[in-house]
Amino acid sequence: MADGQPRSPDTHIMGVYNRAPLAFERGEGVRLWSTDGDVYLDCVAGIAVNALGHSNPKLVAALKAQGEKLWHVSNIYRIPEQEALAARLCAATFADVIFFTNSGTEAVECALKTARRYHAANGQPERIDVIGFEGSFHGRSYAAVNASGNASYLEGFGPRLPGYVQLPFGDHEALKAAIGPTTAAIIIEPVQGEGGARSLSAVQLDALRALCDETGVLLIYDEIQCGLGRTGRLFAYEWADNAAPDIMCVAKALGGGFPVGACLATTEAAKGMTVGAHGSTYGGNPLAMAVGLAAIDELTKPELLAHVRTVAGYFGQQLSGLADRYPGVIAEVRGKGLLIGLKLIPNNRDFMALARDEKLLIAGGGDNCVRLLPPLVISIDEAREAVEKLERVCQTVRKHAAA
Ligand SMILES: *Cc1c(COP(=O)(O)O)cnc(C)c1O
Repeated sequence: MADGQPRSPDTHIMGVYNRAPLAFERGEGVRLWSTDGDVYLDCVAGIAVNALGHSNPKLVAALKAQGEKLWHVSNIYRIPEQEALAARLCAATFADVIFFTNSGTEAVECALKTARRYHAANGQPERIDVIGFEGSFHGRSYAAVNASGNASYLEGFGPRLPGYVQLPFGDHEALKAAIGPTTAAIIIEPVQGEGGARSLSAVQLDALRALCDETGVLLIYDEIQCGLGRTGRLFAYEWADNAAPDIMCVAKALGGGFPVGACLATTEAAKGMTVGAHGSTYGGNPLAMAVGLAAIDELTKPELLAHVRTVAGYFGQQLSGLADRYPGVIAEVRGKGLLIGLKLIPNNRDFMALARDEKLLIAGGGDNCVRLLPPLVISIDEAREAVEKLERVCQTVRKHAAA
């Protein structure tokens, strides 16, 4: 490009993001300092990534200590840090075995491959169909966009991959009818994130598990956003009594900002994942695992989970009050724990911009929602501050609407 026009600093960045005109240089806890010196209250947390807050001293210490020892070795060697984190995650969940990745999408990719391979190992290679749900989000690889319930992510990328089926979220009868001899797996977020913080009930989760048991279909949870303490339990499926999956995808909070993901499975579900079936160069390297170990130490603490439930209760109460006072702005409060959705009447992007004017960061979501995904360590005082800022945004919206 040599047209003599002044260049925007992001000229050389592929234009796939709808970015806010804002950059940050420092973070601490729930606060972010912008490059122009403003301080923001962060209720995005890198989309549920910085669960332990920015610059968490324990994560920083773990990163530094491992950074001076060993960053990376290939998975052709044993990696003790990986074995340790796998043991921690298995002890805390339904899982027996784990494959580590660098992202959520790769965890989903591994889950889908594990499911198909399971049926192939059982002599039923025709079972390839994966049932997903409208409004779901599982990532941006070819398999993940085909599994996701957002058709716009498929546009212009060629034909849909065979073997992916989409159903309405939470319609058990439609699901029952859709399961057939070629069904391999169901993939579902127990609480939808990007789709707009829609939550399945414990009864619905138990019914899903029972249906999978009856039909030999594997149950895959995508807990990349709703897992690791976000809902006030370590994993969202724990809100139900008998709803453990066969396979589960985890990422986001697992590295607290360092890219780490994981695909968890039972020994049975992973029976097809034998030597050579899958692999990754970086997945599970010592640097990532050291941070993951430090993060899981914190995320599994009962005090932290209790804290999430307390702050979530506070938010729930306050935001319902706000919705009552501003019926022309907030149509519905939904979600679970600190995965909070506000379904709005005004445009959600405009609302996010007004929140930025109040120095509050919130995320967008499907169905004209905004999401609050604060670090799990957010205090009640900080939560109150967030609600006060939201109230000012609601006032502004009302004023604009009256004008
Ligand atoms: C973020 C997210 C993903 C994709 O994770 P990446 O790390 O962006 O690849 C998949 N599923 C859910 C539910 C997510 O929130």
